[in-house]
Amino acid sequence: MERSTIVRVHEGLHARPATRFVKLAKGFESDVELVKDGKAVSAKSSVKLMLLAVKENQEVTVRANGADAIEALEALIGYLENPRAGLDDEAEAQSPANDAGQEVAPAPGSVPAAPDGANRLRGVAASEGFAIGPAFAHFPADIAGQGRMLQAEEIQGEIDRFRTAVGAVQARMDHALAQDSLSAGDRGIVAALRDIAADDSLTGEAEGLIKGGNDAVSAVITAASNIAAEFSAVDDHYLNARADDVHAVGRQICLVLLGQDDISLENIPEGAILIADDIGAWDLARAPLKRIGGVVCGHGGATSHIAIIARSHGIPAVLGLGGQVNALRTAREVALDGNAGHVIIDPDEATRADFAGRVEAAAKERAGLTIFKTVTPKLADGRIIEVAANIGSLEEIEAAQEAGAMGIGLFRTELLFMRHMHLPSEDMQAETYAALAKAFAPYPVIVRTLDIGGDKPIAGIEFPDEENPFLGWRGIRMCLDRPDIFKRQLRALLRAAVHGNIKVMLPMVSDISEVRQTRVLVDECTAELKAEGVPHASFDLGVMIETPAAVLIAPTLAKEVAFFSIGTNDLTQYIMAADRLNPTVARLNDVTNPAVMSAIEITAKAGVAAGIMVGMCGEAAGRPDLIATFVKMGLTELSMSPASIQRAKKAIMAMAAEG
Ligand code: PEP
Ligand code: MG
Repeated sequence: MERSTIVRVHEGLHARPATRFVKLAKGFESDVELVKDGKAVSAKSSVKLMLLAVKENQEVTVRANGADAIEALEALIGYLENPRAGLDDEAEAQSPANDAGQEVAPAPGSVPAAPDGANRLRGVAASEGFAIGPAFAHFPADIAGQGRMLQAEEIQGEIDRFRTAVGAVQARMDHALAQDSLSAGDRGIVAALRDIAADDSLTGEAEGLIKGGNDAVSAVITAASNIAAEFSAVDDHYLNARADDVHAVGRQICLVLLGQDDISLENIPEGAILIADDIGAWDLARAPLKRIGGVVCGHGGATSHIAIIARSHGIPAVLGLGGQVNALRTAREVALDGNAGHVIIDPDEATRADFAGRVEAAAKERAGLTIFKTVTPKLADGRIIEVAANIGSLEEIEAAQEAGAMGIGLFRTELLFMRHMHLPSEDMQAETYAALAKAFAPYPVIVRTLDIGGDKPIAGIEFPDEENPFLGWRGIRMCLDRPDIFKRQLRALLRAAVHGNIKVMLPMVSDISEVRQTRVLVDECTAELKAEGVPHASFDLGVMIETPAAVLIAPTLAKEVAFFSIGTNDLTQYIMAADRLNPTVARLNDVTNPAVMSAIEITAKAGVAAGIMVGMCGEAAGRPDLIATFVKMGLTELSMSPASIQRAKKAIMAMAAEG
C-alpha cells in the first residue's frame, strides 16, 4: 500500500525532521519505506532517510506493508504535509537553525586553505570574532583495529561486546541529554549524534562486518567510514557535515571497546585557543565552553556542528585548515580572526597588541550594548522609533529576537523563491509569512513582494536577456506582468495576516499605476478567498522608495499608500547612476552624497505631510552616524541587520537625551 505527496517539511528531511519521521515510523509494526526518484529506503533508519536527501517541495511516496499499514500511511503522510502538527516537546526544543544548519551561518567562507605567510594560515571563517590566547593542542591518537580475522567461535562474543559498547555510548549520550546545563542548541546536536549511535545503518553494517570475521573496532571504523563517505558524496553542505558526526560516534564506540577514555578537554586553560584536526561535536558540547577563547580545526566547514556550537556560544572559530593545522601542534600562542578566517601562530608583539585591543574593544562594545536589547527608543517629544530587523528566512528569527528587534522592517522574499527548483506554493508561502507574523506579534512584519530580475533568475520564471537588468524587468514590473505568480504571493499574505501584524510593501515602484494595479489584484484575491471560505485579513500596503521617480512623485504616492520604506541601497545607485555592485564607481555609491540625502529628505517630507509612516530599510538605516539626521527628517522606523540593532537603539537614545 502506498501514497505520494509533496514534502512540506521546512528545508526537507534533515537531521531532526528525519529523526521525528523515524520515531513516527517505528511506532508501527508495518515495514515502511520512503521512495524518492525510484529509490526506496527504510523509513525506520534516520541515516538512510538523511542520505535520501529529501528536499522541501519534492514529491515522495510512502510505502507500508503490514497490519497497521493504513494508520502508518496516514501518520507519515500527515507529518510530511504538516510537520508542525502534534510536535512533542523534544521536537519543539530544536531550533530551526539546527535543523537547517545553514541560515544562522555567516557567509560560508569556502576559502581554500592556503598559507598566507610563514606564521599565517587561512581557513574557513566559521564563527565571527577575534581571539588571542595560549594554544591548547588536542590531537588524540588514531584508533586502530586489531587487524586479525576472528575465529568462528569468537564471533558471537565479539558481537555481544560490540552491542554492549553501543549501549554504553547511547547511555552516555542519554545521560548528557538529561543534564540541565546543556543549551537547547547543544541538546539538539547531542540528540542527533545519539540517533546515529542508535541507527541500524551504522550498527547493522558493523555487525555484518563482525559476522564476516572482523574485530569490533575494525568493523566500526570501516562501517563509519563507509557511511561517512555516503554523506560526503551528497550534493548538500549540511549532509556533508554529517560525515563528521558519523566518525565522532564511531570513535566513541571504539573507545568503549578499547576501554579507553578520550583525551579530556576538561583542563583547557582560561581563554585558550583549542586546536585540533577534528573535534567531535560530542566532545565540544561537553567541554567547558566558557573557558575556550577560540577554536581552530583542520576539519569542518561553516555548517558543521562545531561551527554551530561555536557560533551559538560566541566563540570565534576558523575551521577547514586541512593539513595546515599540523603547523599549530607546537604553537605556544595563537591569534585568530573569525571574520576573515585568519590564524596567526606565535604572533609578534605588534600583532599581539593589535588582537588584544580588538578583543577588548569587541567585548566592551558587546557588553555595553546588551542593555539596549529591551529598550524602546523614545524621543523627547514622545515619538517611538521602531528599530526592526531585515531578514530573508525563518532561520533568522531567533537572531532578530535575540538582538531586540521591534518587528521586521524588511522580509526579503527572494530567498524563498531562489531556494527551490520551482516556484513556492501558496500554502508554503502562507505558512512562512504566518510563522513570521506569530513570532513578532504585536510588532509589524513588513513583507516585501518578490523583488527579482534577470540578474538573479529563479526557476519557474523566464527572464529575457537584457542589456541593463537593473533598469529592466524586475520587482513590481515583473510581478504585475505575471499575475499568476503575484496573486499567489498576495493570497498567501492575506491568509497570513490573520496571524499577526502583516504589512506588505512593493519594490522598485516608479509609477502610481503600479500601486493601483496591485490594489486591484489584492481586491481580486480577497474576493476569491472569501468565496472559497479561506480565513484571511487585510493588510497595510506600502511602497519602497528606491527609484528617483518614486521620490519625485512621493506626494502622490503618499495619498494612496499606508507607508514608505526608503531603500537606500537602490536609491543611491539610481540617484547617482552608479552601479551598487561595481567597485570602480564605489566612490559615487555613497548615501551621504547631498543628492541622495536630499532625495531622502524630499521623501520624508512628503510622507510626514500626508501623515503616513516613513521608514528606511536600506543599509544606511543601521549607521549610527546618520541615524540622528534621519530621525530629524521625520523617519520613525529603521530596519537593519540584527547585528546593528542594539547599536542603533543606543544612537537614538543618545540623540533623545540631547533633546
Ligand atoms: C534597498 O534597495 O535599499 C533595499 C533594502 O533592497 P535590496 O537591498 O534588497 O535591493
Ligand atoms: Mg532594493
